[in-house]
Amino acid sequence: MSGEQELGITESKEYNTGEWYAEVVQKAKLADYAPMGGFIVTRPRGYELWERLQDHLDGWFKETGVTNSYFPLFIPESYLEQEKDIVEGFDPEVAWVTHGGHDELEERLAVRPTSESIITPFISDWVRSHRDLPMRLNQWASVVRWEATETKPFFRTKEFLWQEGHTAHATNEGAWDEVMTRLDQYAKLYEDVLAIPVLRGSKPEHDKFPGADTTTSVEALMPDGKSVQGGTSHHLGQSFAEAYDVTFTDEDEDEQTAYTTSWGLSWRALGALIMTHSDDQGLVLPPALAPEQVVIVPIYNDENREEVMQYSSEIAAELQEAGVRVHLDDRDERNPGFKFNEWELNGVPVRFEIGGYEVEDEEVTVVHRPDGEEVVEDRADIADAVEEHLDAVFDKLYAAAEENLVENVRAVEDVNEILGTIGQHGGYVKTPWCGDDACEEAVKEKVHAEIVLVPMDDEAVPEAQLDDGEALELESDECTMCGEPAEEIAYFAKTY
Ligand SMILES: [Zn+2]
Repeated sequence: MSGEQELGITESKEYNTGEWYAEVVQKAKLADYAPMGGFIVTRPRGYELWERLQDHLDGWFKETGVTNSYFPLFIPESYLEQEKDIVEGFDPEVAWVTHGGHDELEERLAVRPTSESIITPFISDWVRSHRDLPMRLNQWASVVRWEATETKPFFRTKEFLWQEGHTAHATNEGAWDEVMTRLDQYAKLYEDVLAIPVLRGSKPEHDKFPGADTTTSVEALMPDGKSVQGGTSHHLGQSFAEAYDVTFTDEDEDEQTAYTTSWGLSWRALGALIMTHSDDQGLVLPPALAPEQVVIVPIYNDENREEVMQYSSEIAAELQEAGVRVHLDDRDERNPGFKFNEWELNGVPVRFEIGGYEVEDEEVTVVHRPDGEEVVEDRADIADAVEEHLDAVFDKLYAAAEENLVENVRAVEDVNEILGTIGQHGGYVKTPWCGDDACEEAVKEKVHAEIVLVPMDDEAVPEAQLDDGEALELESDECTMCGEPAEEIAYFAKTY
């Protein structure tokens, strides 16, 4: 429980990132720590961010053939054991239910760490012929992974909210299209909604989802130089279909085994959002997710209170009519300075300041949250102007995040330089790699950085990066760590 707190943020983002992050989350009323270690309570303002994120993604899923469903929280042990990689991969983190009331259960039940093991057997039941394919199911749910790490709201919690999609396809190509469609939607969520550019790629062999043929991911670079795995989309090949018997009859009435995929994005996206844009004044939100997009702070004295309030209310009504989420802060007991600070802490993208001068000149003073830029707009054009200001705030957030990314992808072809670069700057180091785990391990041991992705095509970085592409060219075709022929380009980074 947090109790009464000082309003402002006291920690520094630059020098004390972890403490600063925890303070922003609590003071902006997004989440609190639960009494059990590893769990958080999501407060209404935090949950609203999740709901808006959900609205975007869920809409795109539905436009592309996905239907929502819901499966039980518990998975019988025997179901879990049918796919061995899942058991091996998740066993150390599974929470088990052994009793119902006072009676010991005949079979232990796993609290789902992920739901392939309960969803795939039903897909098997429901798919009979090629006409039933593709089958695309999604659920919005929570999962539990009993990790023994320090709690970090939205980044590291034992229970977390996510969506998990599970699909079956008649062909390998169909499954690949699915994997890439979802990866693109995750990238779109980050880039178009959260204002965070991402890298896309696949995971090295040992870091794949248990049982997957290929795991793809979007990765976002945080301002402290660490990478966040922002969402993953897995091609499961036929391993799950074989384990759970997902077969169908093809056009010639022959029995075939399906190909399956799964893909998930969790509330870690909110962690990345808070970490990327917020500052020492508190939360900074992109307009698409902000609970309030515009806050109106009236500035009045006893003489002009009535006309300032009247003018402000009319503007609030007009914005609301235009579909803008607007809040008029009409509290008499708080002065404007206090309100400015509080709404900055809460991350409202745009503030309107309305005082006697604005009323007299039929104007509105508009202030952008990210950089405090002030612009005076005509009252008459305000509904149109506000859309431009919201877009401008989004552009500022995206540009800053992109600059951080672009400046922090470095091509390095000397192993000591990898260690030095990551140690000093963080960010991504791109280097030729033979594909052997031992070569990754050599870097991991020294600087705790791992290979977060291997580009699938030529390049994993966004277009803007290519302007400066020269510096990123790799000369060598030998593994930087061991000198053997390079098979791939690896991106090393420290991670969350
Ligand atoms: Zn090597």
